[in-house]
Amino acid sequence: MADILYIVVPCYNEEEVLPETARRLRQKLEALIAAQQISTASRVLLVNDGSRDGTWGIITKLHQECTLFSGVDLSRNRGHQNALLAGLMTARERCDMAISMDADLQDDIDAVDAMLEQYYAGCDVVYGVRSARKKDTFFKRVTAEGFYRLMNFMGAETVFNHADYRLLSRRALDGLAQFKEVNLFLRGIVPMVGYRSAVVEYERGERFAGESKYPLGKMLSFAMEGITSLSVKPIRYITLLGFFIFLVSILMLIWSVVRWAGGDTVSGWASMICSVWAIGGLILLCLGVIGEYIGKIYLETKGRPRFLIREILEDGHGETDR
Ligand code: UDP
Ligand code: MG
Repeated sequence: MADILYIVVPCYNEEEVLPETARRLRQKLEALIAAQQISTASRVLLVNDGSRDGTWGIITKLHQECTLFSGVDLSRNRGHQNALLAGLMTARERCDMAISMDADLQDDIDAVDAMLEQYYAGCDVVYGVRSARKKDTFFKRVTAEGFYRLMNFMGAETVFNHADYRLLSRRALDGLAQFKEVNLFLRGIVPMVGYRSAVVEYERGERFAGESKYPLGKMLSFAMEGITSLSVKPIRYITLLGFFIFLVSILMLIWSVVRWAGGDTVSGWASMICSVWAIGGLILLCLGVIGEYIGKIYLETKGRPRFLIREILEDGHGETDR
């Protein structure tokens, strides 16, 4: 018998796109069920991440109209990563594999076929990788490219051009459930889960409607979040930087002693002030980076829940099918 697939879609203020996304997802699921690729207990799991518009109303309606739609309503807005985790952890107890996907139709739904193929070939993780970013703005492309490079340089290894469009088997989901960190960065965590993985290429489309919830500021903090939650390399770079600056100061000292011995006094107010400011700035910067890690430790020790679920909408049909 075919396996149960859950498609997990986090939604934050997506009332404009959701009806169309749901229509296409339903079409896809129905086709896959008809082809006996997946079980009839398969579902689209829509996670409402504390939307302030009519998103939850739409999800409720979809659920009432069609048993293929389930819904999870979070207690408040917790951000994309936590909403996704909430959906995956809910799906985990109900499915054999879960595919996570954005609500805005930027992820090509047809890539699901190729992902399933890899899954049935024995892969536990299938990464959706963007082959083309033609539809993204030039700015978004450049910043995204910089993002991956920076991440890898800083020791947070991620799959290039892979966002959060991926398939996870039940086994991989169980593995993921054991990563308890509050500062969650799925793109970095999933490769750490391991198991057999494959890559499926797809063309990333344009946002169907509504606007991106990731403006530049949020993207930068996402990058910072990703790096500091996955790697301690920045602290090591700071140590190297400190060592280098110390070395330079020794050389300068030697140089001035030599000049002094030669009867030459070193003058210069500007160079003094500049270096004092430069070093002061660097010290503050380094303290900031270290502070970032201490903040992370602080948050992790609290062990707060990453999401709270207000309500789950589902019908019991799936149960009889198992
Ligand atoms: N999203 C969410 N919570 C948030 C912000 C975004 O669940 O606080 C969802 C959003 O509804 C979408 C996905 O995360 O399904 C990706 O967001 P978006 O398309 O705005 O990001 P972009 O594609 O521009 O990076
Ligand atoms: Mg998007």
